[in-house]
Amino acid sequence: MTHDRGLLATAYRTHTCGELRSEQVGHSVSLSGWVHRRRDMGQLIFLDLRDRHGLTQVVVDGGEAVEAHAAASDVRNEFVVRVEGAVTRRLPGTENTKLDTGDIEVRATSLEVLSAAQTPPFPVNEPDAEVDEALRLRHRYLDLRRERLNKRLVDRSRLLRALSDVHHAHGFVEVETPLLIKSTPEGARDFIVPSRLQPGNVYALPQSPQQLKQLLMVGGFDRYFQIAHCMRDEDMRADRGPEFTQLDLEMSFVSEEDVMAFVETMVIEVSRSVVPERPVREVPFPRFTYREAMDRFGSDKPDVRFAMELHDVGAVVEGSGFRVFDAALGAGGRVVALAAPGMAGASRSQVDELTEIARRAGAGGLVHMAVTADGISSPVLRHVGEDRAQALVGAVGAAVGDLVLVVADRDIVAQEALGRVRVELAERLALIADPDELSYVWVHRFPMYQWDGDNNRWDATHNPFSGVVPEDEQLLVTASGNPSQPSPEDPAGRARAMQYDIALNGWELGGGSVRIHRRDLLERSFALMGHSLDGMRDKFGALLDAFEYGAPPHGGIAIGIDRWAARLLQQENIREVMAFPKTGAGSDLMLGAPSAVDPAQLAELGLQVLPRRG
Ligand code: ASP
Repeated sequence: MTHDRGLLATAYRTHTCGELRSEQVGHSVSLSGWVHRRRDMGQLIFLDLRDRHGLTQVVVDGGEAVEAHAAASDVRNEFVVRVEGAVTRRLPGTENTKLDTGDIEVRATSLEVLSAAQTPPFPVNEPDAEVDEALRLRHRYLDLRRERLNKRLVDRSRLLRALSDVHHAHGFVEVETPLLIKSTPEGARDFIVPSRLQPGNVYALPQSPQQLKQLLMVGGFDRYFQIAHCMRDEDMRADRGPEFTQLDLEMSFVSEEDVMAFVETMVIEVSRSVVPERPVREVPFPRFTYREAMDRFGSDKPDVRFAMELHDVGAVVEGSGFRVFDAALGAGGRVVALAAPGMAGASRSQVDELTEIARRAGAGGLVHMAVTADGISSPVLRHVGEDRAQALVGAVGAAVGDLVLVVADRDIVAQEALGRVRVELAERLALIADPDELSYVWVHRFPMYQWDGDNNRWDATHNPFSGVVPEDEQLLVTASGNPSQPSPEDPAGRARAMQYDIALNGWELGGGSVRIHRRDLLERSFALMGHSLDGMRDKFGALLDAFEYGAPPHGGIAIGIDRWAARLLQQENIREVMAFPKTGAGSDLMLGAPSAVDPAQLAELGLQVLPRRG
């Protein structure tokens, strides 16, 4: 008999459970794996043996192998066993065309139980069984054994490998940065780690390696990347969790165009290598300014796989006398509308649901107008007037049978609310022609600052080191002329940042910017944010110091890998592409974290836990 060994052969196996074919008939082999299913026919016991590579049918014949038969009589599903035997061709008519190994079976000569198993809390051997998520998370190791999750993690591993390959091929150096650092604000709360050696002091876990990667640029690494673990103390949602992985990169001597061009090449190469069957919709990726994305799609991560764009109808309804429109326009706000095709017959409850979506997005309400063969039907028709209603319907290009939806509110709030309605409608009306398409888009030219009314100052919209678009540099001033007296009317409010975000099929994937590396500009920008350069030293001391020693112009980006993997693998929730995710409340149900801390440990750290309030 021939003995050959597969690539993954070890002391426990010559082949994996997905490897044997009819070419190996007559070979003597050994397999190790989990009992997927067992059928006891008396003298013959059939075991489907499983590992992550596949399934092989093992036949244990009591007439040929007495001891193996006795052992096989006791095994149950999910036992781990090792089988030795001969590969034989299945009897004609008993082949299983659904299995890669379906032409053969292994006739056991010996069977050894390597590990027994209790009955699992949910079936591991039924790939489509719907299982409560908490149960799956508590026993994640069993869920990982199931084909679907297993396959997704293998695909994710291919994504990581493709990322590494592409970056190395383009001259990037992979550098790991520490997890115990000082706070790097990214707009979320920090997780902190108390120091034992310096009681009362804490480390912050990185919200991102932002400062460190900029310091690497000052250190001369002109192209850095890292698969970075980041932690932000915020609630779990479908597309974000307290702990996540991001592709983090930074480049020196680059313009916005340089970074975007590399990222585009990289994203296309990675997509093609991970999901070659999914076409990239448009190359180069469509590019929108933030203003255009908001005005046309009501989103800074627009899904452009369908049209149904927003229209500004302010000029059409101005002076209509309808209180809702007049109030919005009078306060400098916007009236925006879209036409939902074929929805003129929408029921009251459908309209209520859409209104609720607009309200949750911050709008006061949603006005609707049905375009019917008999004219326009709308609860606000008598307030707006027939002529203006007709003009409005015309302005959005609505035809008979369409439903026109209108939001009047503050600028951005109005567009965003209608943008949410737009996305919901696309789902309901099945407007996405090819769900396999990967539609990447860029959004750039974000406002540099947003007004913080509570503290009477400007705040960086993204990151305090994002650079200003060169032609807007002269806008980094206050109306009062005194940088320490900012006001919402300042020219600074109109300054645009060299910030770019990338989105995929309506999900934000990531963002980055070309940074400010000039001290004079930093000083001006910090002043607008109510800080002196010295005041910022406490937060960003190392970076500011480093900028005194020759900083190259630089910029970068970070892309969320959990989100990217979820989108590529067509999952709605990032937990479905993570090995060990946390629940919405931030718990690890398997490990039981977070957990109470040992009093001795607290004492060592000089900490005390106060009783819960309320
Ligand atoms: N640090 C940013 C983030 O984590 C990305 C960047 O600006 O490069 O979102």
